[in-house]
Amino acid sequence: MYDFITDLFNIDKEMIKNIEVSSSKDLTELHISLKPEKLRCPYCHGITHLHGYSKPKIINHSKLTDRKCIIVFKNNRYQCNECLRTFSGKNPFTFPNFKNSYLSMTNIMKSLSNLNYTYSMVAESNHISVTQVQRYFDSFVNIPRIRLPESIGIDEIHSKMAKRSDSAYLCVMVDNTNRSLFEILPSRSKAELKRYFDRIPIEERNQVHYVTIDMWEPYKDIAVTYLKNALIAVDPFHVVKHLMDCFRRIRLNIMYQVDYNSTSYYLLKTWKDLIEKDVYLDNEPVYNRHFKKKLNKRNLLDMILGISENLALGYRLKEMYLHFNESATEKDCESWFDSIYEAFKEAQLPEYSEFVSILENWRTEILNSFKRPINERKLSNALSENINGQIRTYLTVSNGISNFTRFRKRCLLALNRKVFYSINDQLRSDKYTTNKKTK
Ligand SMILES: [Zn+2]
Repeated sequence: MYDFITDLFNIDKEMIKNIEVSSSKDLTELHISLKPEKLRCPYCHGITHLHGYSKPKIINHSKLTDRKCIIVFKNNRYQCNECLRTFSGKNPFTFPNFKNSYLSMTNIMKSLSNLNYTYSMVAESNHISVTQVQRYFDSFVNIPRIRLPESIGIDEIHSKMAKRSDSAYLCVMVDNTNRSLFEILPSRSKAELKRYFDRIPIEERNQVHYVTIDMWEPYKDIAVTYLKNALIAVDPFHVVKHLMDCFRRIRLNIMYQVDYNSTSYYLLKTWKDLIEKDVYLDNEPVYNRHFKKKLNKRNLLDMILGISENLALGYRLKEMYLHFNESATEKDCESWFDSIYEAFKEAQLPEYSEFVSILENWRTEILNSFKRPINERKLSNALSENINGQIRTYLTVSNGISNFTRFRKRCLLALNRKVFYSINDQLRSDKYTTNKKTK
C-alpha cells in the first residue's frame, strides 16, 4: 500500500515501518519511522535491541515542485544488551546534522549543472536559502587544474570579475577536439597566463599540438614560449568577425550620409541582411511596396550595390575572403591568401585598413588554420561561439556575480562532461577565497 507513496517521494520502501502523509496548501509532511535492524553496539560490539525513538527530526525533501515537502523522521533508538548504552539507528535520508535530504542536494546540484539557473532560482525551487545552495556548491564541486588537451582554443570574455589591475577580460580555454571547456583564468594578461603555464610540467605542455587564438598578441607570445610543439593558428571565426565589423562600417558610413526618406536609406537599412548575411538570392519575386513592383532578393542586392562604388568594392572583397575562408586548402591557401591581401591593400578603403593590418600581422597564423581538415576548422569555430555564448548568457542572467572561484567551477561543471560533483558531508565555502573588490 505504501508503494505509490514511496515511489512518488523516492524513498526505499524496504526499510519503512510506517509512513503517513499530511498535506496542506503549501506544505507536505511525510511522517516516517523505520523497521528495526539487527545492529551491533558501536561501543562494545554487543547485541542490541530496539529501545524507543529519537525526537523527530525535520529534513527538507524537495521532491515536489509546487510546495515545500519535509520528512518528519522518528529515528529508532537501540540499546546494547551488554553495556546498556543507547544509540540512534542509521539515517537513510541525509548525513547527520544535515537539514536537506540526499534527494534535495542531488536536485540542487543537477540544477546547478545547468547555467540557465541562477543560485536564487535553485534556492527558491528547493525551499532553501541562497547561501545554503552556494555552500553546497562550494563543498560538492572541487575542480583542480584539468590536463592540457592536444588542441587548445584560447578566447576571452568581458567581465567585471576580471582582475582589474590587469585587464577587463577573463581568459577562456577550450578543448577543441572534445568540444568542452577546460579552464577559465581571472585575466587574459600575459602575467596571469605565465602564472598558469609556469605550473604545468614541460612534458604535458609538449603534448599540445595545436592552439587556436584570437588576435591578442600575448596569446601568441605565451604559445610560442610554453607550447613549443604546437602549431599556432588564428581562429577563422575571429578573422571573419573583424572583417564583418569593418564591412558594416562601410554600409553605416553611407547610410548616415543619404537622406532619411531616400530609396538608398530604405535599401541600406531594410535589406542589410542581403549584403551582411548568407541569403538565398534567387527566390520567386515578391511584391515590394517601396518600389511598387515584384522583386526578388537578387534584384534588391543589385540595387544596394548600385548605391556606392565603395560599398560594391567592399562587398566583393568581403565575399572573396569568405569564399577563401570556406574553401581554401592547405595546398592552395598561401597563394590564394596573398592575392586577396593584395586586392584589399589596393582597394584602399579606409574602413578596411584595420583588416589589412590583421592580414599583414597574422598571415602565418591565419595560414596555419588551414593545416587541419576542413571539418575540424568548422568545429572549432562553432565551439568558440557556443561555449563563450553560454558563459556570456550566464554572466547576464546572474547579474552582479563577483566570486571568480565559484564562477569558474560553475562553468566547468556545466561545460565539461568529465567534471562531476560529489555530495559529501564536509561543508565549506569559497566566499573568501576570491579577490574582494568594490563595485
Ligand atoms: Zn555495548
